[in-house]
Amino acid sequence: MSTPLTGTTALVTGASGGIGAATALSLAAQGANVALVARRKDRLDELVGRIHSSGGVALAIEADITDRLQATAAVDQTVAAFNSLGILVNNAGIMLLGPADSAPVEEWDRMIAVNVQGLLYTTHAALPHLLSAAEGPRGTADIVNISSLAGRVPIAGSAVYSLTKHGVGAFSEALRQEVTGRHVRVALIEPGPVATELFTHIRPEILEAGKEAFANATLLQAEDIADTITHVVTRPARVVMSEVLIRPDGSQ
Ligand code: NDP
Repeated sequence: MSTPLTGTTALVTGASGGIGAATALSLAAQGANVALVARRKDRLDELVGRIHSSGGVALAIEADITDRLQATAAVDQTVAAFNSLGILVNNAGIMLLGPADSAPVEEWDRMIAVNVQGLLYTTHAALPHLLSAAEGPRGTADIVNISSLAGRVPIAGSAVYSLTKHGVGAFSEALRQEVTGRHVRVALIEPGPVATELFTHIRPEILEAGKEAFANATLLQAEDIADTITHVVTRPARVVMSEVLIRPDGSQ
């Protein structure tokens, strides 16, 4: 059966859990060949198994995208396996919160390495392939960058996470202007809080301090964001959804 993304290859970074895994499943269900990139290969292998058993096509690629050579190799491996790359979902990210004055600077380094440098390395390696795919039968190619509500609205305690996501927004908009005439669409997705493992890396004392604020919050589900991403990349080639902010019901 032909589905909207039949014949299209998608690479999803951070596919070993949360939003990335849900997105990989959703794109595969629409017919895409999906390359799953993350460090935890066991989780990627399990997801490949799930996709294969639903009749989809997927490939697990173990890579740490903060290493430029590994990010480039992940793109190369995808193209070697599937002959093209039509959709890049830059989803891998970490969020380490807390006031700036007491923050371990290594936390800042890690966020900048994954959320900014990793995204840049992967995008740079993928761009020639995306530009080439945009000239193919689909008539378009997609870069989907996962930012955050924090990429729109900085909040005390998230200074450097907000910085990284504002950077993703700035890069996305400038890149969109550069490649739109060549039919590569660039979309920025800005989710509010989503129930994933993202929060598990935050220091316990910071989590404890924010407990009340989190306690009554409605959370989005990873599938809500995956649905949005799939919607964005399955629009007709003339339609560019360049920015989507997704809030849970009840959020201010
Ligand atoms: P998860 O922690 O569930 O997933 C993060 C993913 O990133 C994992 O698959 C992890 O894989 C991967 N990752 C982390 N570091 C690296 C690395 N160095 N190289 C390759 N992959 C890496 O979080 P979410 O699904 O929630 O997060 C996905 C994106 O959504 C992030 O960019 C996040 O900032 C954004 N976001 C999340 C929100 C939320 O509330 N959850 C809200 C707004 C935005 P592995 O550890 O196996 O390498």
